[in-house]
Amino acid sequence: MTLRNTWLLARGFHAPVCGAVEVLEDVLIAIGAGGFIADVVYPNEERFGALKSEAEQQGILEKLPDGGYLLPGFVDCHVHAPQYPQLGSALDVPLEVWLHRYTFPLEARFADLSYARRAYDLLVTDLLSNGTTTALYFATIHQEATRLLADICLSKGQRALVGKVAMDHPENCPDYYRDASPEAAIEGTRALIDYIFAHPVNGEGLVKPVITPRFIPACTDAALEGLGRLAQECGCHVQTHCSESDWEHGYVLDRHGMTDAASLDRFGLLGRKTMLAHSNFLTPSDMELMKVREAAVAHCPLSNAFFAGAVFPLRAALEKGLHVGLGTDISGGPSASMFEASRNAITVSRMLETGVDPEKPAAERASGQPARIDFRQAFHVATAGGAKALDLPVGQFAPGYAFDAILIDCHAPGGTIRLWDEAETGDDLLQRIIFTASKGNIAKVWVAGREVAGTHATA
Ligand SMILES: [Zn+2]
Repeated sequence: MTLRNTWLLARGFHAPVCGAVEVLEDVLIAIGAGGFIADVVYPNEERFGALKSEAEQQGILEKLPDGGYLLPGFVDCHVHAPQYPQLGSALDVPLEVWLHRYTFPLEARFADLSYARRAYDLLVTDLLSNGTTTALYFATIHQEATRLLADICLSKGQRALVGKVAMDHPENCPDYYRDASPEAAIEGTRALIDYIFAHPVNGEGLVKPVITPRFIPACTDAALEGLGRLAQECGCHVQTHCSESDWEHGYVLDRHGMTDAASLDRFGLLGRKTMLAHSNFLTPSDMELMKVREAAVAHCPLSNAFFAGAVFPLRAALEKGLHVGLGTDISGGPSASMFEASRNAITVSRMLETGVDPEKPAAERASGQPARIDFRQAFHVATAGGAKALDLPVGQFAPGYAFDAILIDCHAPGGTIRLWDEAETGDDLLQRIIFTASKGNIAKVWVAGREVAGTHATA
């Protein structure tokens, strides 16, 4: 069921401002021909009644089923698309070992287009079913397979940002999986950008290209310089990893004599459309620099538990005014669900605040800084916050924003939400949804007003 050119009478939640949830009770949402929200009318407005009956008479009024609540679709700010086949495995070694033992061999397989098709088809289908309406993807070094990922996102209707991974450093990338030269890394990136911009079915710009140096250790300075120039020239998004683990952070300090953020800035890779995954070890001056550049962090709490040995101070970053989105980091994080990522963000923030060493008395165990977030901040970061970080008009129900949304069915027998009190409403209900919802509760998924997935999909 496409919702273009309709009025939707809806209840649900969104969080345009961090920390505050707006409960939507029977609001009218007008969705235009291009899938953008044209108007949002609240029941206390004078015009509400007239507009509602007019839409009803014209036969363009849609209503949500009982027990159905609308949420903005999730914005997953960090996904390695080719790592989906190892989701939930290969979690036993540190990052630098994990890359060479498991991940580079897996990504190298994407030279084979039929393998790529199988993996990317399943991934995009599964992410949409999980309510991820926007995904920021790392692909592989391969031109053909990366183009295929963009094609698949377009054909399944997922909003996506797709990057050909650039990695040309002969010391840190294996011979079997590496760009042949800095020029190959830069020209391959440029070719993908051209392909996506000229794509015949991408007229609405649903899929965007991303300049994607894997991380500083994987790139030569010549490649970083060229990609920085390209970013300035084309104004495209940029994504990479930043200060993820002790090893990675230390490597960049040794090689460049400065932190990841400072070094990326030097290459022209830190700007309003930059998304830096992890960023666990940002210094105060890194944070200051990122704020000035309006660059964003993709916080990946589950992955960090396995590969970072640290917790990103999300609350401090939000209080400082940094742009932050949330990421699953498939497959460093062994879950494809942004509900899980939201819950993990809450959980690790509590542990960061209290500390975890039972040998220490409570006062010594605690970090001494307020670090906890609750479901409200997590919901914001997973939706409107990530959208703002990517500078995309999604993540909230307001005029001018695309209608990217999910319908939560709180009564779905195959779901995991169990309501014990029918009167449960407002914030309490949203908390219940954030903590207990799963794929079985996601009845419908829309991107730009088009229905693209869900257990009750009718498209
Ligand atoms: Zn990553």
